[in-house]
Amino acid sequence: MPDPFLRIFSEFSLSECDFFPNYPLSRLTTLRIGGPARLLAVPKSTLVLTRLLAILNEEGIARTLIGNGSNLLAPDAGYPGVVISTRALHEFEIKEQTITAGCGARLPAVARAATRAGIAGFSALSGIPGTIGGAIYMNAGAAGETVGDRILSVSAVPRDGGEPIRLLREECLFSYRKSIFMRRSLIVLSAILTGERLPVDTLLARETAALAHRRLTQPLELPSAGSVFRRPENDFAGRLIEAAGLKGLRIGGAEVSERHAGFIVNRGGATAADVNELIRCITHRVYDAFGVRLVREIEILGE
Ligand code: FAD
Repeated sequence: MPDPFLRIFSEFSLSECDFFPNYPLSRLTTLRIGGPARLLAVPKSTLVLTRLLAILNEEGIARTLIGNGSNLLAPDAGYPGVVISTRALHEFEIKEQTITAGCGARLPAVARAATRAGIAGFSALSGIPGTIGGAIYMNAGAAGETVGDRILSVSAVPRDGGEPIRLLREECLFSYRKSIFMRRSLIVLSAILTGERLPVDTLLARETAALAHRRLTQPLELPSAGSVFRRPENDFAGRLIEAAGLKGLRIGGAEVSERHAGFIVNRGGATAADVNELIRCITHRVYDAFGVRLVREIEILGE
């Protein structure tokens, strides 16, 4: 039987898509954890991405998408199919009050440029190390600002590579760390964002304060995937974990951060099994102490 992977290579030229067999996922995730992806594909246009999705669907090859890997735990065994990286789709441009951004554009770069162009609503977003696609997918946010609030429209395509569609903000069904892109398995291709006009000095002061607060409260010097758990109603996961006495708890190379108990950091050599076991342990201990069931926010790649 012909290898379906051969068709993928033969359908695309080098100028359309880069391919890397057996690529370590630890190099694509901010936790620096994960075994090899059977194939990493880096499409260089949204058209190629859409074609690739359609071919993978026809061939029945497992596929998953990765932005900056900053909300993902990648399995130690790796991924048996194709991991598609959006990193080459990173362009964005600002015209007056609107920003048009590819799904692979880095949120910090877009947010910083928006702030410097006097567009409000991005100052606190500049510290979130995701891509525009990943941030829209989970409606990332901080300090009262969310990506969903900045959206005018989003271009997306079904995971099977069907016809692209355009959704207005109301159609994206944004809520706390949720969107239609999660519920309907849509892939974000690009987005148009906006914000009201405010003096650049005011916005720069907000950005500086937001970044300083992050440096003070988050373990940015160690690999992590940010907050591991969703915020429980009327509380904070970090507060509960700290109150349960779990700061510094370590399994293998994975540790509950001393600086922010909502973060798990990779102290060196951590495996996905270590992180999973630590998550299980935290969940049980917090439930035993306070009767609150913490819900994981970070995703398992390929799940
Ligand atoms: P990835 O981790 O690569 O992917 C996450 C999910 O999004 C996967 O299911 C993936 O398939 C999907 N996805 C990626 N691209 C697309 C696309 N184009 N279309 C559809 N689905 C897609 N998050 C916050 O909300 N607020 C914070 O303040 C915050 N602070 C953080 C601080 C640190 C130090 C770190 C490491 C993380 C932090 N995060 C925070 C988490 C993370 O940065 C965000 O969730 C971010 O939006 C994830 O984007 P990503 O591109 O890295 O997505």
